[in-house]
Amino acid sequence: MILVLNPATGSDSAEYKQLMAHLANLPGISTRIHTEVGSEQTLTEVYLIGNTKALPIEDMQSLPCVEHVVRISEEYRVLGRHKNDHRPTHFDYNGVRFGQDTLNVFAGLCAVDTLEHVELMMQALRDNGQVCTRMGAYKPRTSPYSFQGHGKACLPYVFELAGKYGIKVIAMEITHESHVEEICEALYRTGNSTGVMLQIGTRNTQNFELLKIVGRQQDFPVLLKRGFGITLDESLNAAEYLASEGNRKVVFGLRGMKTNMADPHRNFVDFAHVPVVKRLTRMPVCIDPSHSVGMRAASPEGILDIVNATAQGVIAGANMILVDFHPVPGKALVDGPQALLIRELPLFLEDVRIARESYEQRV
Ligand code: PEP
Repeated sequence: MILVLNPATGSDSAEYKQLMAHLANLPGISTRIHTEVGSEQTLTEVYLIGNTKALPIEDMQSLPCVEHVVRISEEYRVLGRHKNDHRPTHFDYNGVRFGQDTLNVFAGLCAVDTLEHVELMMQALRDNGQVCTRMGAYKPRTSPYSFQGHGKACLPYVFELAGKYGIKVIAMEITHESHVEEICEALYRTGNSTGVMLQIGTRNTQNFELLKIVGRQQDFPVLLKRGFGITLDESLNAAEYLASEGNRKVVFGLRGMKTNMADPHRNFVDFAHVPVVKRLTRMPVCIDPSHSVGMRAASPEGILDIVNATAQGVIAGANMILVDFHPVPGKALVDGPQALLIRELPLFLEDVRIARESYEQRV
């Protein structure tokens, strides 16, 4: 059971103390408190753990300072949607709202290669009114001999250029807890206002120790990608690892499934799951058409498969798009064949706008 407290009641108020004293006297029940400071208000939730089945909801509801009570099911306790659950389906980070009602495009480089390419990308984003991007510094690769990313060496110029071009949030994959420290340090040193969304890739979806560590920090929101060879339920539980440790600023990413049915695409596109994840949980849902489709091939009408897949995901209600662009895909050090050209960005964004309009007309 979750008691959602009235935002007006502070933790040093008499009402709050009375509530805690009452809860301490309930036999066999322990409490866990989650407080989140948002841009609009502070949200405090008190989780009652133990045998709560016998507790009458009405009694809990009538306690001073309790705004409403949520009786939670076992599944996805923190991030899930439960009966009578009015908790928010959005969060704000660095001036950008991420929610089940919004849509943010993160076009950018799969892997940072040169400073010049980063600058060309960010300039194009600024010129097209974009404030988010993706920039890969730490790249998990199949072969140990492939380019592994520039790591912390590229962070200073990535963050400085992001500040220069007004980029507010960069999605950046991390594969180890030390990367979080390196990002924090580089952000501090460059001293600009750019934010980072930590990305946990499909190879680490069930790296539970990493999830717990990332879940314990509240500085950065997290984009958790679905595991490519596990069930949706297993991936949603992985997201719950982040939230149960304290960080519920989680976006869930669909990036295609590995299957022998995917041919000719790199992965089997799973964007029909967008509304499913939104129905089961309160997380915004991201689509990654680049890693799902994996190549530029075009239909006879000349529409690229990646662009088609993006439209499908947006019409299904996607809230975030992670998509690879590159100034010279032939020179990209990672995943060049799936990168769109920078000059294609305006048309891509226009296509997204049309698909979003279509989604809004349907709901
Ligand atoms: C990526 O986004 O660069 C990436 C490696 O994605 P995934 O974890 O989905 O393979």
